[in-house]
Amino acid sequence: MPLIHDYYCTNETCGFSGPSGWGYYMYAEADDGERITCPHPGEQSKAREVIGEDATDEEFDSRTGFNYHCVCIDCVEQFDRDPHRDQLRCPNCGSTAIELLVELVGQRCPECRDGDFIAEDTGAIA
Ligand SMILES: [Zn+2]
Ligand SMILES: [Zn+2]
Repeated sequence: MPLIHDYYCTNETCGFSGPSGWGYYMYAEADDGERITCPHPGEQSKAREVIGEDATDEEFDSRTGFNYHCVCIDCVEQFDRDPHRDQLRCPNCGSTAIELLVELVGQRCPECRDGDFIAEDTGAIA
């Protein structure tokens, strides 16, 4: 598995940061449509538990996905969306100027617009 990263702005006075990890995580949809986070390791068995042990592969695939950490470039709201299934729109201001956290890496920080947003290897392997 990939290394865990810390995501943050290099400007010390800014403090903008994202959740540590890989920038995304697996989820499984419960019967009521709620997305249950399936943490690594053991995400496959957790997903089975949520969806049902007797689910077919097709059902399993259609009810699992990956939520990505997203950042609104306009108001710097952070939220999680599945870019393959969801419209990327900010729940706070309605903007569609959304970047995935992983795609922000190497770009200018959206909050202070001065520092660089970087991913630092924590040395931890999940
Ligand atoms: Zn916004
Ligand atoms: Zn910043």
